[in-house]
Amino acid sequence: MFSGQLPHYVEPRKLADQGGLISGQTTVSALPRLSEFEHSQSQPVQVALTFERDADEGQRIVHGTVSTELVMTCQRCLEPVSCVVTAQVHLALVWSEDEIQALPERYDPWLVTEEKMPLATLLEEELLLALPLVATHEQCPTRLPEGAEPEGGASDETSAEKADNPFAVLASLKGSQK
Ligand SMILES: [Zn+2]
Repeated sequence: MFSGQLPHYVEPRKLADQGGLISGQTTVSALPRLSEFEHSQSQPVQVALTFERDADEGQRIVHGTVSTELVMTCQRCLEPVSCVVTAQVHLALVWSEDEIQALPERYDPWLVTEEKMPLATLLEEELLLALPLVATHEQCPTRLPEGAEPEGGASDETSAEKADNPFAVLASLKGSQK
């Protein structure tokens, strides 16, 4: 059992046979294939993975979630947008290409080439697969709602106050309906 600090290497076969749990936290900087997300390197990556044997066919599987938040480029306004990226892991361990062919459709294969596999490789692969195809703001910062302070004019303090105060939001809604 591992909790908190994640191991660098995992032994997938052993973990699956024992019903092991890998949970804890790492950072984006520990995942080399995510190095392009230069503004997200210190972002925590939450990992919760269960290794076990499939109840029906005895297949060794790993399932759970890997999640983090990555700063991507909004495809509408080209400004940075922070995206929560959560990978739903549902993999079956396989040791050969033949086994991949025979795999039930509900599983994706994880080709295990060594008894000890680097955990980072699995985590970055799953996160890359879970990236949104197109990142956009829910509401782009350049399109401010009516009645809001123009950019640059208002201090951060003012906007923070507004967000925290539901009455201020109501008031501004009422104002915009006139
Ligand atoms: Zn945007």
